[in-house]
Amino acid sequence: MAKVNPNYQKLPGSYLFSEIARRTAAYSEAHPEAKLIKMGIGDVTRPLVPAVIEAMHAAVEDMAKAETFHGYGPEQGYDFLRSAIAKRDFHARGVDIADDEIFISDGAKSDCGNIGDILDVDNVVAVCDPVYPVYVDSNAMAGRAGDYDEAAERWTNITYMPTTAENGFCPALPEGKVDVIYLCSPNNPTGTVLTADQLKVWVDYANANGSIIMFDAAYERFIVEEGVPHSIYEVEGAKTCAIEFRSFSKTAGFTGARCGYTVVPKELVRDGQSLNAMWNRRQCTKFNGASYIIQRGAAAIYTEEGERQIEETLAYYRNNARVIKEGLEAAGFTVYGAVNSPYVWCKTPEGVGSWEFFDKLLTEANIITTPGAGFGPSGEGYVRLTAFGDADATVEAMDRIKKLMA
Ligand code: PLP
Repeated sequence: MAKVNPNYQKLPGSYLFSEIARRTAAYSEAHPEAKLIKMGIGDVTRPLVPAVIEAMHAAVEDMAKAETFHGYGPEQGYDFLRSAIAKRDFHARGVDIADDEIFISDGAKSDCGNIGDILDVDNVVAVCDPVYPVYVDSNAMAGRAGDYDEAAERWTNITYMPTTAENGFCPALPEGKVDVIYLCSPNNPTGTVLTADQLKVWVDYANANGSIIMFDAAYERFIVEEGVPHSIYEVEGAKTCAIEFRSFSKTAGFTGARCGYTVVPKELVRDGQSLNAMWNRRQCTKFNGASYIIQRGAAAIYTEEGERQIEETLAYYRNNARVIKEGLEAAGFTVYGAVNSPYVWCKTPEGVGSWEFFDKLLTEANIITTPGAGFGPSGEGYVRLTAFGDADATVEAMDRIKKLMA
């Protein structure tokens, strides 16, 4: 009889968003007149910009003619997109990344989840707490996480690094040795960023211990403050220890279109093996490339017009983030994030738990948030609000919260 991967049975149910949906549906049913404002899930709402749409239309026309038709593309992505990325996202910031160190994909979630294919099952994995759940669950599926301890809400073989207001949302180096370290900046869910000095500590640790940093920069385009690194490769030494994930989802509204990329430097070598060569091998075997039409759309972000247009959309979301931050602060809350991020991480009132505060906002202000505890035990005492909604609804939500807390 075929045996299934036993690690899947160890996975706890994806409790967070289903529980939010359940509570929201129950409330809506009991109060059909309530006008709910959704500030929970991190999906975008603004349409793709005209430059992207035009490029995609033109690519569809290419597919309609034999002379310009595109069948299977390169597994690593088309050169026109890889070289545009290398120039704008790296060379322009003084970072030397070659086109063939960039692998185009259908998004950062797949790459974050799949990267473990090229790593041994015995590696010790460290994640921040609270955390984007994909890092944890994908390692659990691969058998790297041990067993799930329901009471502790933690996996026995994963090293959790609390990132809270107390440590300025910067994880401390672990006591034991860890092999694979997931860092996310700007962070989901806390909305905070790591500085170059903070990243340097991790880069030095990884190089000294032969560890690998998985750096998730899916929210990079939200960075506005000078001096905040946009890429881990802006930190000296990172090319020998880090893989970086990027996404066009939040950059340019590609959550439904699907496109992102992963950087694996050729200098990254472990056990005498080039991880760039290994990832290339993995992709060539298991991935047939992102769609030509979508890659043409993504390349349009790198034109002058496209960049200007996505900046307008980003400004729209940034303004929402500012409205949320200022609104919550005016209502007396302590908030983090929001400045270089679409996420606002709000401390709940003293003694009020994440879920309790979620319920209060749902039932008394008709606002849906995400309880911080759903991202890990250290998220308890916070809720996450997102800036991806409608601008008027965001203003209205803050008015409701100010009235609620008055
Ligand atoms: N990484 C982080 C930290 C995210 O929050 C998300 C999406 O919410 C992703 C990756 C996934 O991005 P993509 O849509 O490119 O798969």
